[in-house]
Amino acid sequence: MFSKILIANRGEIAVRVIKTCRRMGIKTVVVYSEADADSMAVEMADESVFIGPAPAAQSYLVADKIIAACRETGAEAVHPGFGFLSENAGFAQRCADEGIVFIGPNPGAIQAMGDKIESKKFAQAAGVSCVPGHIGEIDDTEHAVRISEEIGYPVMIKASAGGGGKGIRVAHNRKDVEEGFPAVRAEAKASFGDDRIFIEKFIVSPRHIEIQVLGDKHGNVVHLFERECSIQRRNQKVIEEAPSPLLDQKTRDAMGAQAVALAKAVNYDSAGTVEFVAGQDKSFFFLEMNTRLQVEHPVSELITGLDLVEQMIRSAYGEALAFKQKDLKINGWAIESRIYAEDPYRKFLPSIGRLVRYDPPVEGEHDGYVVRNDAGVREGDEISMFYDPMISKLCTWGKTREAAIDGMGRALEDFHIEGLGQNVPFLAAVMDHPRFRSGKLATSFIADEYPEGFLGAPPSDETLDVLTAAASAMHQIQVSRIGASKRGDWVVVIGHRQIPIRLDATDDGMTIALGDRSLELTDLAWRPGQPLLRGKLDGKAFTVTVKPAAEGFVIRHRATSTKVLVLTPRSAELHTKLPERKPADTSKMIISPMPGLVVSMDVELGQQVREGEVVCVIEAMKMQNIIRAERDGVVKAVSAKGGDSVAADEVLVEFA
Ligand code: ADP
Ligand code: ADP
Ligand code: MG
Repeated sequence: MFSKILIANRGEIAVRVIKTCRRMGIKTVVVYSEADADSMAVEMADESVFIGPAPAAQSYLVADKIIAACRETGAEAVHPGFGFLSENAGFAQRCADEGIVFIGPNPGAIQAMGDKIESKKFAQAAGVSCVPGHIGEIDDTEHAVRISEEIGYPVMIKASAGGGGKGIRVAHNRKDVEEGFPAVRAEAKASFGDDRIFIEKFIVSPRHIEIQVLGDKHGNVVHLFERECSIQRRNQKVIEEAPSPLLDQKTRDAMGAQAVALAKAVNYDSAGTVEFVAGQDKSFFFLEMNTRLQVEHPVSELITGLDLVEQMIRSAYGEALAFKQKDLKINGWAIESRIYAEDPYRKFLPSIGRLVRYDPPVEGEHDGYVVRNDAGVREGDEISMFYDPMISKLCTWGKTREAAIDGMGRALEDFHIEGLGQNVPFLAAVMDHPRFRSGKLATSFIADEYPEGFLGAPPSDETLDVLTAAASAMHQIQVSRIGASKRGDWVVVIGHRQIPIRLDATDDGMTIALGDRSLELTDLAWRPGQPLLRGKLDGKAFTVTVKPAAEGFVIRHRATSTKVLVLTPRSAELHTKLPERKPADTSKMIISPMPGLVVSMDVELGQQVREGEVVCVIEAMKMQNIIRAERDGVVKAVSAKGGDSVAADEVLVEFA
């Protein structure tokens, strides 16, 4: 076996690869940029090599620097992780030329599958069912219109070199194509340096189902069943699971057989993924093959018991697969939630900054579910604007889909992050969503169910009970410090609701009588000042996040975040008579939705601006965000200009 492997990546995937190497007794080297000098991966690896400035184009993407780092440290092989150089056939070939083993497929397979047009040609020849469309390059807009009309609307215009959801556009009519074709072409040129475009049928409301394949250098290829990744936002995956609630054994076998046939057709010899879109009727069509480890690979590991990184290392070393297709079985169900540094309440805008608090759920076995959290960060680390805004990948395993979802809901309750915007409440809302639970998924799920974006969820009856119990408990703990009795009548105020309770403190919790029913709170764990309160309500474990407010607390439970007060019956009565405090009027201001760099300020003092006009452009996380006026008005003040760094909530422009 190899004695030393270099990891040409960062963050969570670098840490993930290190863990497997340690278990296999292989020494590790990581490379790091200026932004990652103090990272967890650098701390965990046996050796580390500095490779330059933060922008990936000057560090993680420079093949020469990676090769030099291998030479310097004597690493015999390179694991590229995903992103960066992982699907770069030139880099894989360069490693081979230098006598360094690339832990991934052979360069020929990357070449054949790295390009969507080429891969579709291979797929068709291997008998794989492809999305109806035009497998070839489109010359110009006129050609694009002709092809689209032949295929029939709606169609999807796609960059052949595209990835990560970029370089894709749907067209419903001729006008969409006339506008969309040049736009996709320009985006493809800018993002991938390759402006070849093709067009295929847009499958309406499909599901994304992919097959994990694994091959060796001896001609063996197996599949590790499917993953469903239909919960996407702007064609990017957010929640994945394995297996898929859609598939029956017959469809699973058919998709698996096609994926294996395609892999064999290109002599595939590592871990890879064959992606399909599937109709609700279980028809399925090949999309693309990703010739690397996939972000969501942990869910396949959880249901098969295999370690895909170990398998990649073994096959790169030349070992034959130690099992056959018939030896592989699906065990239980696994779900992954991508925890992103983005603000779900602000249209999911990226939110960079420091992890002032980072306290993930405990990994391993819990009551009825297993937790795995793949992360590359620790409390105090920064999520920087240079790389992917993923904080961690939280996975749960259960015997059934329901158990895995319940486990994920609980694990998300236990995930405590402060310091930046993060999507935990949104992920919790999906776990509680009846349509998600029913398994009726589609790639349009988020757009269908949250058309206005995510506004937080109103409390369910169960959450109301949890909020009532948590607030009562905190109140009792605080008043008992000043010698209050163990019994009391109180009113819990949650938003506009007033809930009268009678509270009886017990040794490890309390009984809360609400009219004709009562709640039993046990195993209570909280001290004043702590951000998490844990307990069991009628025997069922829960966690809430607590923040002190001017009066009372702000409590988050799952997708609900709300202010909660506990008052005496007399003050509760007065409370109803208080005038409601109105939030400050910000309707005449343009406020920076995130920290970032002002690319351009497009209005000036005294200018008449119409609704929808561009006011300024702000860049963060490599994304340009266009800020538009929400109503007509005359500019009264401008407080930022191109080149300025701005904070979240900073006032940029005021209207008269
Ligand atoms: P898909 O497999 O559908 O293309 P993925 O979510 O697996 O989508 O990845 C999209 C692209 O972004 C891939 O090129 C992947 O390698 C890259 N990527 C995604 N997340 C990260 C991350 N945390 N770090 C580095 N690269 C990433
Ligand atoms: P990328 O390389 O960016 O991952 P894909 O071709 O895998 O690009 O497409 C990304 C996502 O876009 C898919 O997961 C699916 O949700 C959607 N998509 C792609 N092609 C089609 C299609 N023909 N019809 C409907 N949805 C599609
Ligand atoms: Mg894809």
